[in-house]
Amino acid sequence: MLKLFVAVPCYNEEEVLSDSASKLCDKMHSLMDDGKISRSSRIVFIDDGSTDKTWEIIGNLHSENEIFQGIKLSCNRGHQNALLCGLMELRDKCDAIISIDADLQDDIEVFDSMIEKYENGCDVVYGVRAKRKSDPFFKRFSAKMYYKILNKLGGKVILNHADFRFMSARALEGLSQFNEVNIFLRGLVPMMGYKYDIVTYERSPRLKGKSKYSMKSMFALAFEGITSLSIKPIKLITRTGILVFLLSIAMLIYSVVRYFMGQTEVGWASLAVSIWFIGGLQLLAIGVVGEYIGKIYLETKHRPRYIVEDYLTDDNCEDL
Ligand code: UDP
Ligand code: MG
Repeated sequence: MLKLFVAVPCYNEEEVLSDSASKLCDKMHSLMDDGKISRSSRIVFIDDGSTDKTWEIIGNLHSENEIFQGIKLSCNRGHQNALLCGLMELRDKCDAIISIDADLQDDIEVFDSMIEKYENGCDVVYGVRAKRKSDPFFKRFSAKMYYKILNKLGGKVILNHADFRFMSARALEGLSQFNEVNIFLRGLVPMMGYKYDIVTYERSPRLKGKSKYSMKSMFALAFEGITSLSIKPIKLITRTGILVFLLSIAMLIYSVVRYFMGQTEVGWASLAVSIWFIGGLQLLAIGVVGEYIGKIYLETKHRPRYIVEDYLTDDNCEDL
């Protein structure tokens, strides 16, 4: 029978954790009772270097009920790395993993259809938000624009899917072969190409606590997505460069002609404008190229993507 693990990254989630844990626990037990998953299935919280009582709560949950396990990262590495840690550390202990946020904004009732689709041969099942009524207008709008841009740039992502997804052990094995340090899981998983399907659900608002994604980290993730999936921005810069170069040749011819016509004092405005224009363009170009060089720099270091400090497992040993 399917041995299912649920991986839940948590960063300062003391307010929601107990609630979410009991809801997840009920759901897992009902799946066990229906014979859909094995009794050895587990819920694993990955503490992403929280500074509040999150790890303490995970410890209590673990000692009360063996269904709960924990992995503690040595410091805050961000949602994507925490999730990756969960997926990689757990992948050979189970048949499949569902990843879900600690605030349970995603609907755990679709676990059943995810499992069903897996049994029908899918290796990956994406949770997709049907409507995003619970999100503010700006988040909805910017997300849609972002997905459009990303797809245009060649990064394949599923619209309205975040990191709520079901992955089989085979898919996780595939994911483990991606060794990049800068990760954007939503873009990497579709790249593997296994058979997939989607399940749709309504996303509810966060019940307690604040969103751990500030505007700044949201933009950082968005930028990470583009720069790790696509090199089109660099190509775009080259093309713009060529265009501006051609334009400046035209300008040169134009000024020479004006010179011979004796009208040299005109054109101060266009001169000033073009200096600013080209200066700005160059800075932008250097900036974008710099971003990619920065990435290459980080990738060549092969730094670990996460470091585990502690495990809370079935027999509380290091070997999960
Ligand atoms: N999270 C994390 N590390 C971080 C920030 C967030 O592990 O540095 C986790 C967080 O605990 C939650 C998930 O990532 O389980 C998504 O965060 P949140 O719900 O705050 O994001 P939102 O739903 O607002 O996009
Ligand atoms: Mg959330």
